[in-house]
Amino acid sequence: MAELRSIRDLAIEGRRTFIRVDFNVPLENGKVADPTRIVATLETIQHAMGRGAKVVLASHAGRPKGKRNPAYSLEPVGQLLAELLRCEVLLTDDCVSDAAVKIVGDLRDGQIALLENLRFHPGEEANDEGFARDLARVADVYVNDAFGAAHRAHASVSALPRIVRERGIGFVMEKEIAALEKLRTSTARPFVAVLGGAKVSDKIGVLEALIDRVDALLIGGAMANTFLAAQGLSLGKSLVEPDRFPLARSLLQRAAARNVKLLLPGDLVVADSFEASAGRVVTTNLVPDSAMALDIGPRTVEAFRHEILPAKALFWNGPMGLFEKEPFSHGTLGVAHAGADCAGFTVVGGGDSVAAVNHAGLVPRYDHVSTGGGASLEFLEGRPMPGIDAVKS
Ligand code: AMP
Repeated sequence: MAELRSIRDLAIEGRRTFIRVDFNVPLENGKVADPTRIVATLETIQHAMGRGAKVVLASHAGRPKGKRNPAYSLEPVGQLLAELLRCEVLLTDDCVSDAAVKIVGDLRDGQIALLENLRFHPGEEANDEGFARDLARVADVYVNDAFGAAHRAHASVSALPRIVRERGIGFVMEKEIAALEKLRTSTARPFVAVLGGAKVSDKIGVLEALIDRVDALLIGGAMANTFLAAQGLSLGKSLVEPDRFPLARSLLQRAAARNVKLLLPGDLVVADSFEASAGRVVTTNLVPDSAMALDIGPRTVEAFRHEILPAKALFWNGPMGLFEKEPFSHGTLGVAHAGADCAGFTVVGGGDSVAAVNHAGLVPRYDHVSTGGGASLEFLEGRPMPGIDAVKS
């Protein structure tokens, strides 16, 4: 049977070890604004260095659309990595150039090269065989440690590992798979899921998968507006997706038929615009025509907390409101604290929810903080993961 091998069990000593990492991090003024994903991969990189591998790091960054663009260079990432590891990190001019092959070929055991952004080539997103063969020129061993990119069939995660015989996964991948697999197959009860964010349409798959598995589904954020409006409530100027009303209604019916508690906000924080500097709390059925719902209200936070605390398994993805703005961040922070106070097995995924957990200093109080938003959702749905399947041997 196909198995996933850990980097621990791969013969990397003295060999060019291509590690696909997820260094797709936000930049501000040419500097890395959030190093979480880089810090997460240090253990794998240090392991490879310690065993005398010639370490070749490769990542995508942003959406340069297959063209070289200095705005998406991995140079700031290389600088930060060198500071974190206290060693030289050689950034190549390109990921598949002869110069890159030469730099990698000249690496001493334990040295690191960082290939320039994979997405400067259209072959990356096209999962192009030829591009994968070009990348294979710098890979004796292949390690995938980019969980955030594992749900995409791109060349560096799909075509490439299939042509490198010695292959496996790094520690980020190992931890992500273990935690999410535990959740996916969990029989611990109650199993509670909290979903938020902007759109129902982005999370249809996971909503449908979870509704058959969980005991309670708590929905907040603009996503909740669509569920509320689908039941005939007036949501004023709030973000709603009328084309998703039939789906919302069918999910509500399915939840009722399966005895799944589907909780929607009973109160909301509303304001007149996204720019408002303060909000006011209203009962869900009293949203004025001129107002928009931008957060869940305090009674809803309490009701959600009440469900979250006794959970034996908890999954949370997506903010409860426009959490980037302080007046509308309380719902998301309330959920972040409730998750931290839950004694069950707790997993949070998705850039915004993870940012909130980070911001509140609650990371150590979760069992697992997923580095991959979309990837964690697709994993839980049980969808095929090209980046995991391709690395099995
Ligand atoms: P997503 O990428 O679908 O998880 O959505 C995240 C975005 O949804 C964040 O930028 C939030 O500010 C935004 N959001 C969440 N709730 C609301 C809301 N009630 N009204 C407007 N934007 C929201």
